[in-house]
Amino acid sequence: MVAVPKTKQMNVLQRTQRVIQDALKKMSCSEEAYELLKEPQRLLTVRIPVKMDDGTTKVFTGYRAQHNDAVGPTKGGIRFHPDVTIEEVKALSMWMSIKCGIASLPYGGGKGGIQCDPRHMSTGELERLSRGYVRAISQIVGPTKDIPAPDVYTNSQIMAWMMDEYSHIREFDSPGFITGKPLVLGGSLGRDSSTAKGVVIVLKEAARVAGLSLQGARIIIQGFGNAGSYLAQFLHNAGAVIVGISDANGALYEPDGLDIPSLLDRRDSFGTVTNLFSNCITNEELLVQPCDILIPAAIANQLTAENAPDIQAKIVVEAANGPTTLEATRLLTKRNILLVPDVLASAGGVIVSYFEWVQNNQGYYWSEKEVEERLESILKASFASVHQTARLQNADMRLAAYMVGLKKMVDASIYRGWIQ
Ligand code: GLU
Repeated sequence: MVAVPKTKQMNVLQRTQRVIQDALKKMSCSEEAYELLKEPQRLLTVRIPVKMDDGTTKVFTGYRAQHNDAVGPTKGGIRFHPDVTIEEVKALSMWMSIKCGIASLPYGGGKGGIQCDPRHMSTGELERLSRGYVRAISQIVGPTKDIPAPDVYTNSQIMAWMMDEYSHIREFDSPGFITGKPLVLGGSLGRDSSTAKGVVIVLKEAARVAGLSLQGARIIIQGFGNAGSYLAQFLHNAGAVIVGISDANGALYEPDGLDIPSLLDRRDSFGTVTNLFSNCITNEELLVQPCDILIPAAIANQLTAENAPDIQAKIVVEAANGPTTLEATRLLTKRNILLVPDVLASAGGVIVSYFEWVQNNQGYYWSEKEVEERLESILKASFASVHQTARLQNADMRLAAYMVGLKKMVDASIYRGWIQ
């Protein structure tokens, strides 16, 4: 098989390729399987001119990657962030494939991103950018081709503009084009909080396996955005003690537990709250504070070879995409810390997106209870199959998750005659 660089110099894409390669090898798949899956099948780069409020035109760069559509249409979010790169979008599309595979959704992975800073854009500028992006990618997406959704710094309002633009282009109302929509436009009950709900479900399973009770467990959550803030709320309500939280500016740590309801009240729409306090520590310091469970719910590359030896948690649950490097995965596993990888822990979002798409296709809408019960049953089964694979194959949880996640895609590609 083609060699990929040593772990230390790897970017997120190379890291993903390495785990895919290791997983396929352990599954005794052909070299052709790796050749097919090491890069997205389709990748579009677009330049989007947007009229800014001051009358000037700014041109933004965006991407849409479609990893593999052997199982079904591709599916995955669109992020608006200044640090979006082509490698990251490709890797994110591959992680979506693995998530969909683990949860047995009839999709392959896709992902989109635009290099922009929505924190410094007006509502009008964001709307024009969202509509411009949909016009630019409209040829390769659609309810039976590739179905976008929210991701970092995108929300249901942005999904609504995108759905509206796509419906204009196609000249019929197309709710199934995108998920994460507002309820009145065909969104699903429970979609907003689904990533966090999913994290709580797998966290409970992990805690059970590790012999830990959630009641009274001390938890650090890095990140206070959509996933992080809902998580803090749910876990606080479940009787856990949230000892640490953070946002992009800094972190708060309180061994006796933070006042979560008040922090939730005071956060702004981008999840910023630490700027209101003078006793902040840094994000790096937060990760190594005493706790039972650590939940990175912010950005990639937070747990590394440097800080992994100092992590004090018994369980690490990755609510963010890609927060842990491969060396850190190895070090944490060696220290018997149970690591629940992103492709499993953060799959709640795409699972409820799938429910939304099914409801759009049926034109029949489910109760929140139905959504929650189905989410729970899929994620419990997903956790069990990844955990069992890790045990039986003597693999760490990430490798096991990739093995489970890639299986259907490889089989479907063989049946289609693409590879042997
Ligand atoms: N952006 C989310 C993720 O990374 C959700 C994707 C979706 O709902 O399609 O899993």
